[in-house]
Amino acid sequence: MTNDITTHKYRVVIIGGGAGGASVAGRLLDHRADLDIAIVEPSEYHYYQPAWTLVGGGAYDSKATRRAEADFIPKQAKWIKQRAQGFEPELNQVVLEDGSRIAYEYLVVAAGIQLDWTKIEGLEATLGKNGVSSNYRYDLAPYTWECIRKLRGGRALFTQPPMPIKCAGAPQKILYLAADHFRRNGIKAEVHFLPAGPSMFGVPFYSDALDQIMAAYGATPNFGHNLVAVDGPHKKATFEIGAEKKHVSFDFEMMHVVPPQSAPDFIKSSPLANEAGWVAVDKNSLRHDKYANVFAVGDCTSAPNSKTAAAVRAQVPVLVSNLLAALNGKPATAAYDGYASCPLTTSRGKVLLAEFAYGGAITPSFALDPRIPRRMYWWIKKFFLPRLYWRMLSGHMGPDWHAERKFKKPLPTLVP
Ligand code: FAD
Repeated sequence: MTNDITTHKYRVVIIGGGAGGASVAGRLLDHRADLDIAIVEPSEYHYYQPAWTLVGGGAYDSKATRRAEADFIPKQAKWIKQRAQGFEPELNQVVLEDGSRIAYEYLVVAAGIQLDWTKIEGLEATLGKNGVSSNYRYDLAPYTWECIRKLRGGRALFTQPPMPIKCAGAPQKILYLAADHFRRNGIKAEVHFLPAGPSMFGVPFYSDALDQIMAAYGATPNFGHNLVAVDGPHKKATFEIGAEKKHVSFDFEMMHVVPPQSAPDFIKSSPLANEAGWVAVDKNSLRHDKYANVFAVGDCTSAPNSKTAAAVRAQVPVLVSNLLAALNGKPATAAYDGYASCPLTTSRGKVLLAEFAYGGAITPSFALDPRIPRRMYWWIKKFFLPRLYWRMLSGHMGPDWHAERKFKKPLPTLVP
């Protein structure tokens, strides 16, 4: 049935109906209800991934993070329910997994990021048992909470692979929620953070604050530790350290693992990819470097922003504006400033709301020192942001108050 699809040329084809793809479709149709759009998306469900941290911390119901994908595919758009497998940008065609092709005038790539679980030896076999969990999977996030809740002492490890990953703060957010639980319940656990990178966070302004939060919990940062193997039954994790890639092992009672991540394979192997495998776009216009009728949004792009839903929310209006301009034969003038936000759950009840843009600019939505964990931000994270997100998927982006602000004062004493 799909083999005759190339007889029709869609005005816009969107690859991926997740945070970026669904929002672009909804917003495009809000502006131009007559647009002939196809969305290529294989999944039955869409997930509000940012709440998986709260699920893992015992503060959110996992079922509330899942909704039917059909709710977010606009009625006017054609839903092609299969995977894209390749791109032929010289022919303006996308190859689907059944071998058929669809043709487009404009293409938007929004296929997210790939989780490379198998790159860590022994990990897949032990996930969900032996005290090994990950908030990076819907089915596993509740097990993270079970591990935290059941810990009675011993060592708790929290790993972080090399960047880029989606939500760079997520590996440490769950550490804080666990450490807070141990503290409240008088559990003597030895808490270790093991990031492959050299600091707590990519933006020094926030990293300094997070050093203090770690110290407040008595948690140990072990920088430059890259997880390479897990032996679940013997509760042993092996890390590579240093340029000579020496192996060191840690015993653990529980371990939260964040998988290595990369561009989806079908993008990596396509003409749309840059050397690292991401869709090669201009970091401001989100338009492809070589193919002017191709745009990309979200985690799959080469734009050097922090890969978050917050970034998607800032990118979508820019992409849609530039795509509508292109459809009207006008120049693309809208520019994305690199905005991203990372609500760091420093305890159950408080969040440090890190907001920033390209070049490490500090761009908070509120005129308050963003290094200070606040209760108000916890409620924003738990109640406001999920609502904002589900609405965003229909193309309604909600308020955007972020602005560059300067905070010269020395770092105050922080209470997580
Ligand atoms: P996604 O929303 O993942 O959508 C990608 C879509 O592409 C999916 O629907 C997928 O099925 C589809 N797809 C994949 N391959 C193909 C293919 N071959 N063909 C067709 N379709 C395909 N962000 C924040 O802003 N704040 C947070 O606090 C936060 N916390 C997070 C915590 C965790 C544990 C995780 C996992 C993520 C978190 N994020 C957070 C990140 C956020 O969820 C992502 O950055 C965001 O979803 C990216 O949107 P996207 O559209 O690029 O990708």
